[in-house]
Amino acid sequence: MSEQVDVLVIGGGPVGAALARALSSGHPVSMIVLEAKTSPGPDPRVLALSHGSRLFLERIGAWQNVRRATPINTIHVSQKGGFGRAVLRAEESGVPSLGHVAGYGEIHDALVEGLSPEIYVEGATAREIDLSRGTVDFDYLGERRQVCARLIVMAEGGRLVEQVKGIEVHRKDYGQWAVIGQVKTDRPHGNIAYERFTKEGPVALLPFGDGFSLVWTATPDYARSLVEMERGEFLQRLQDHFGSRAGRFVDCDKRSGFPLALRYCEPIVAERLALVGNAAQTLHPVSGQGLNLGLRDVAALSRSILDCPIDEIGHPGMLSAHAKSRRTDREGGIRFTDSLIRIFSNEIPLLDSGRGLGLAALDCLPPARKWFSRKMMFGLRPGRIL
Ligand SMILES: Cc1cc2nc3c(=O)[nH]c(=O)nc-3n(C[C@H](O)[C@H](O)[C@H](O)COP(=O)(O)OP(=O)(O)OC[C@H]3O[C@@H](n4cnc5c(N)ncnc54)[C@H](O)[C@@H]3O)c2cc1C
Repeated sequence: MSEQVDVLVIGGGPVGAALARALSSGHPVSMIVLEAKTSPGPDPRVLALSHGSRLFLERIGAWQNVRRATPINTIHVSQKGGFGRAVLRAEESGVPSLGHVAGYGEIHDALVEGLSPEIYVEGATAREIDLSRGTVDFDYLGERRQVCARLIVMAEGGRLVEQVKGIEVHRKDYGQWAVIGQVKTDRPHGNIAYERFTKEGPVALLPFGDGFSLVWTATPDYARSLVEMERGEFLQRLQDHFGSRAGRFVDCDKRSGFPLALRYCEPIVAERLALVGNAAQTLHPVSGQGLNLGLRDVAALSRSILDCPIDEIGHPGMLSAHAKSRRTDREGGIRFTDSLIRIFSNEIPLLDSGRGLGLAALDCLPPARKWFSRKMMFGLRPGRIL
């Protein structure tokens, strides 16, 4: 395998696979995706996909492959130990649901389904990128190989970006971990998602199957103990921490922990190169924005590629126009998630009332709720994306 393609994608996670899918629907763009893993392996993450992401997945023919997705019809936002709460409803925004909840593996498989093994190459690990020649060296079946491309897209979650000259990587460690797992309460979830802010970090319950998928943010040490804790004690701690809004917690499965940090690159393009998804920005999971933003990166980049003559793919003009089209949405996503953590995860007493007033104001003003829901569903520049 030593070949020339129009687009080479490094990383076949949900974002890389979505790009391959968006480019492979009958267009004359040649492409290859290098994915390091040979089989996806179980990933415990369960993700909230916005209504906008669902429409995009429909458009690229992947949504119909997602067989187990639970709709979110209502989002309930509150803060522990303070007044104020806001409730967002799908019908108010004129959509059938605000989003859907599905497993990482299920979303990934749905995107990969139907991609040929010549396009989506598993077990291929990218090692070296040479932008001046447009080549990527990779390991495949025990051998070193090379592909040359007009455009190299990094969708590898940010693991290789450090290699690339001219791209600055910004980092902020939140000193938090997310503890995730499936939990059940003694009553049906009613398709309500809960986001509860506490001084130690947000706790989210996403309706999933006949229970909830939990994302509990905590300090690294406490998170480790929550992962290892005996089931009964864990359920009691969760009840004390979350309260009784979703009912009584009666069951849970194995838990896992993920360290949380903000990481983003500037710029997101270089010579013959574009970054998408977690490679471009890795966000705190509060409000479930990461993959949704990554899919909007893909929607915009695939449009830029398909709209330009083949011999101009990867040209500086095309890439700078693409980066410009993504600026507002990605900066908005980065600032929004980071501000939520700064404003809600602290013990400054005066902020308690400010937070409460903010939630109460959102709850009392239907136009504000509608505006907010639409930004969460479609990002900051919807017209450019769908
Ligand atoms: C606890 C938690 C909860 C979350 N909840 C939500 C949510 O509710 N909603 C939401 O939208 N987002 C959520 N996210 C974020 C979401 O998981 C990510 O945004 C999404 O997985 C990014 O996908 P990606 O394809 O960019 O990167 P990844 O999922 O990291 O995939 C990268 C791929 O690249 C491959 N790769 C790496 N290096 C190489 C290499 N050298 N060569 C070839 N292949 C390589 C990897 O094997 C992998 O398959 C959550 C994240 C966490 C941690």
